[in-house]
Amino acid sequence: MSIMIKGFVESSLIEWEGNIVAILFLPHCNMRCPYCHATHLVQKPNELESIPLEAVEKRIEKNKDWLDGVVISGGEPTFHDDLDELIKIFKDMGLKVRLDSNGTNPDKIEDLIQRELIDCIAMDIKAPLRDVKYNEVGGVTCSLSDIARSIKLIMESGIEYEFRTTVCPAFLNKADIVEIAQSITGASRYILQSFRPTNCLDNKMFDVIPYSEDEIRDFAESARRYVKNCYVRGEEMKALSCNW
Ligand code: SF4
Repeated sequence: MSIMIKGFVESSLIEWEGNIVAILFLPHCNMRCPYCHATHLVQKPNELESIPLEAVEKRIEKNKDWLDGVVISGGEPTFHDDLDELIKIFKDMGLKVRLDSNGTNPDKIEDLIQRELIDCIAMDIKAPLRDVKYNEVGGVTCSLSDIARSIKLIMESGIEYEFRTTVCPAFLNKADIVEIAQSITGASRYILQSFRPTNCLDNKMFDVIPYSEDEIRDFAESARRYVKNCYVRGEEMKALSCNW
C-alpha cells in the first residue's frame, strides 16, 4: 500500500464522543482554508516524516481490546487511492472507523457509506452555501453542488455523523452560522469550533481576534433552533455530564 501516514495519536478520549480512538493523519488537501492549522500536512507533506503503516498497525492491534475505533483525518483523506484498504485493516480488527472530510468528494463518501466501510463521518461545512463566501473560506473554488450532495448523503446515510464549522471572525458572523444551520435543518449534531490564530496557513490570520466563548455560545444557541444538537467544541462533554 502506498498510503503515507503523517501523524498518529495512539489514543484519545475526546476525539469521538463516547469512544476511545486512535487517530491517523493523512497528507494533502484540495482546499486551502486560511485558518488551517495542518499547514505542513497540506502544503509541504513531503517535509514531514512518514510513519510506517506496519508500526501503526502493530500499535493499534496491541490496543484493540480497549480501543473502540480509529479516526482517519487529514488533510483530506478521500482522495487517497488506498483509503479503502487502510480502512479494512481496522475493520478487520473489529474496530469502528470515523472519517473526517471537507465534503468535496461526494462520490467517495457515497461509496464508503454504501459499502459500510465507515461507522461515522465528520464533515466540515466552511461557510453558508454561497459561491463567493465558500470559496473565500475554503481558499479555492469549490463546487457547492458537491458540498450539498455530501450533506444530503450524510444526513440520509443512517450512520453516526456530525457537521462542523470553524468560526473565524474574518469570514463568518452569527447570521452565517444560522444560515449554515438552516441548510442542515434536522441534523443530529452540529459543532462550532473556535478559530485560533496560531500556526495558520495564511499569516494574515494571526491578526484576527477570535470570538469570545460567550459569543460562540450565543451562535450555537441560535443554530440550535434548526438542528437537534449544536455545541461549541469542548463543551459537549460538559453538556453530557450535566445529564448524568
Ligand atoms: S479542509 Fe481546510 S482546514 Fe481542513 S485540512 Fe484542508 S485546508 Fe486544512
